[in-house]
Amino acid sequence: MDFAYVDKTNKISDYDIIKDLLHVKDEIIKKDKITMREYLTYGKYGQKAIKNHFGTWNKLLSNANIKPIKVFQHLSKEEIFRLIEELWIQLGRQPNLREFESMTKHTKKIIVSNFGKWSICLQEFVKWKTNKDKDQKPLTNTLIKHNTPREPSKSLRYDVLARDNYKCVICGRSTSDGIRLHVDHITPYSLGGETIIDNLRTLCSDCNLGKSNKKD
Ligand SMILES: [Zn+2]
Repeated sequence: MDFAYVDKTNKISDYDIIKDLLHVKDEIIKKDKITMREYLTYGKYGQKAIKNHFGTWNKLLSNANIKPIKVFQHLSKEEIFRLIEELWIQLGRQPNLREFESMTKHTKKIIVSNFGKWSICLQEFVKWKTNKDKDQKPLTNTLIKHNTPREPSKSLRYDVLARDNYKCVICGRSTSDGIRLHVDHITPYSLGGETIIDNLRTLCSDCNLGKSNKKD
């Protein structure tokens, strides 16, 4: 007869999930990053437990002190230039590569694959911007066709806030610092940016206002 206690209450704690996540990452896949798919393949707990305990996958990662994997997304040179233009306006000066990565959520891989180097990208951007401003016609919104409405839905808004950990992506403050959070278009809607998660980010009112003359 074995009198060992077996827990049949099925109670799991946040810590159990984090422990299992780290176990899968360090002992099974042996990488310093882990995707949700990898965890669900090898881990003990399912999507439901993650959602109940942490809300989102990225929240779980941040609780476990693991950096989220940035999604590599193909962008055209033109799209990159538009992002740089936005950043430059927001910062009021030439952005650096680190700022590009943290503020757009794209990795430098996208710069390297399109331009080789950040400095070359900036030089090409300046040429593009100069030409664009030269033959700039007044933007009329009727010319830009959108596939999405300007206002994000409630659930999309929630997804953006959750992905950004309920913090302004520029200054890092959250509502507990007494500021209001807005969901903002990275490429302004007025310039053809769509209301999709990859084009949205969390900003506080201050950083949002810093965008000044943008009609977004
Ligand atoms: Zn801010």
